[in-house]
Amino acid sequence: MAQRFLPYGRQSIDESDIAAVVEVLRGDWLTTGPTIDALEAAFCDAVGAEHAVACSNGTTALHLALAAEGVGPGDVCIVPAVTFMATANAALYCGAEVVFADVDPETGLMTPDTLADALGRSGGKARAVLPVHLAGQCEALDRMAMQAEAAGAVIIEDACHAVGSHWRGEPVGNCTHSRAATFSFHPVKTIAAGEGGMVTTRDSELARRMRMLRSHGIERDPSQHMRQAGEPWWHEMQMLGWNYRLSDIQAALALSQLKRLDAFAARRHALAAAYDVALNGNNKGIEGLARTPDCDPCLHLYPVRIDFDGLGKSRAKVMSELAAQGVGSQVHYIPVCDQPVYKARYGEVDMPGARRYYARTLSLPLFVGMADEDPARVVSVLLEVLGG
Ligand SMILES: *Cc1c(COP(=O)(O)O)cnc(C)c1O
Repeated sequence: MAQRFLPYGRQSIDESDIAAVVEVLRGDWLTTGPTIDALEAAFCDAVGAEHAVACSNGTTALHLALAAEGVGPGDVCIVPAVTFMATANAALYCGAEVVFADVDPETGLMTPDTLADALGRSGGKARAVLPVHLAGQCEALDRMAMQAEAAGAVIIEDACHAVGSHWRGEPVGNCTHSRAATFSFHPVKTIAAGEGGMVTTRDSELARRMRMLRSHGIERDPSQHMRQAGEPWWHEMQMLGWNYRLSDIQAALALSQLKRLDAFAARRHALAAAYDVALNGNNKGIEGLARTPDCDPCLHLYPVRIDFDGLGKSRAKVMSELAAQGVGSQVHYIPVCDQPVYKARYGEVDMPGARRYYARTLSLPLFVGMADEDPARVVSVLLEVLGG
């Protein structure tokens, strides 16, 4: 096709990003250096957080938060069925079990009702609740925080889609309604570092444990050592941790991208608004992004809902015909409970909201480098494909 191919997501790298990485390459520190501190400080500023701990990716961010919180065998983590599998996997890494919560069939988000149902199925063992801010949207964080607290659990927000989003005027990541929030800097996410992650929290002790755990559980502060040997080389491993460090090379890219966050958010807003307009009154019943009240999202995705069965055309066929016309698309997400590992562990789980959401969802291209006219073009190609 003559038209350039539009993937569903793509990073935006400019000369300032490249210069920032090159500067680190010319410097003294490739890892665990000053750029990590600078990134953590800038991230705190950007999302109004008190503490930010950088790590190797969004998955290790989730694992660090749960591990530092002390989640372990005998505990349950509540995870919405519609998410990237990392949210659930992090619970298993800790030796905990997952109880899936159903989601709103229109937004794909866990709600107070579906959380209440999941808590009821947790046998009083719920230790952490992980709301996932799908596409960058969130909902009812205050109510879910109260529900979690009443059940003796903490909220760990999976905010990997939601850097730059606000809920009731507060930036996601400032942890007003949670113990911690986790972010990813994978290239399809709003801020790209190649790989990278971040956890924010208001709890200084939790932040301290996460810093230790991301580097083997080593305590660096000599005054905190159990053995006061007076040996300058002595460093003490006080917990079993991992190597979940972020390199300064990646941190330089993340930091440079973070400076562009406001511009990214504005661009994503404008593109989503253009999709809303292009879809308005369409004759195939395609529903645009279902927006949640109180949320001002920095959208990671633009998922539409389509009645593929009713239109008599499979999603696989629609996606391949879109691709043939230069339009990439993706499905976010296959319910995690349907993955073989989880099916073998927990059997068939009844998740009607997740099933309905999954059956109809399709993510259309949304990335900063799209042209103003791209959303209208994507929608016209989509209508043509659905009509044929
Ligand atoms: C991307 C993502 C993760 C994992 O992040 P990685 O950086 O890829 O490890 C976790 N949860 C959600 C919802 C994500 O989209």
